[in-house]
Amino acid sequence: MSSDYKGLLLVVSSPSGAGKTTLCRRLRDEFAQIQFSVSYTTRSPRPGEVHGREYFFVDRDAFTAMVARDEFAEYALVHGNNYGTSASLVREALASGTDLLFDIDFQGGRQLRRCFPADVVLVFILPPSLGELQRRLQARNTDAPEVIERRLRVARDELSHYAEYDYVIVNDDLNRAYAALRAIYIAESHRCARQRSAAEAVLSGQQVLGIARGA
Ligand code: 5GP
Repeated sequence: MSSDYKGLLLVVSSPSGAGKTTLCRRLRDEFAQIQFSVSYTTRSPRPGEVHGREYFFVDRDAFTAMVARDEFAEYALVHGNNYGTSASLVREALASGTDLLFDIDFQGGRQLRRCFPADVVLVFILPPSLGELQRRLQARNTDAPEVIERRLRVARDELSHYAEYDYVIVNDDLNRAYAALRAIYIAESHRCARQRSAAEAVLSGQQVLGIARGA
């Protein structure tokens, strides 16, 4: 990433099952310069999840100690489990001009916006309907029925927070939804405020590199 660039904090939220994880993965696959913010959580790993890749899986005592040491940029209780974003990761990304992608809930998005108002872009992914959300959660087959039931109850509340977001994408078609997310990312990363030092460098006679796009 060019050091002239001011990185953005791209937050993608949605109820479980709206396709957020798939959309985020596609964005990371296409744009190598995006770094994913791996959260800490007290929930147990699902089959196939790897410590340090999807999450850092920690117990409640370790999580509470991190809160006490002020090590989270934001943290929240979601579906009965604790989730938190490393403050040092965010600080380092902002200092080095790295774009960070967050798969976090509306409480986390709200806290990050409060702390980093100039850097945060909030994107909300909507399922086409609550019925479709239920179908996707059941088809995913990774959670127990009572967990799915709880996630559906929470989904309605989560959806009610869409108006706090900068962008809303209805994911009725994965390719179309991805095209929208990609367009948002590209446009936001070219905002004048993020390119200011590059523009000033050109004006002062220096040669600057464009931001490498694509993997
Ligand atoms: P899951 O357990 O299905 O991976 O995630 C449950 C919810 O927690 C999702 O909505 C996800 O976006 C959210 N989440 C994951 N990591 C964090 C985090 O660090 N902070 C907050 N506030 N929410 C998170």
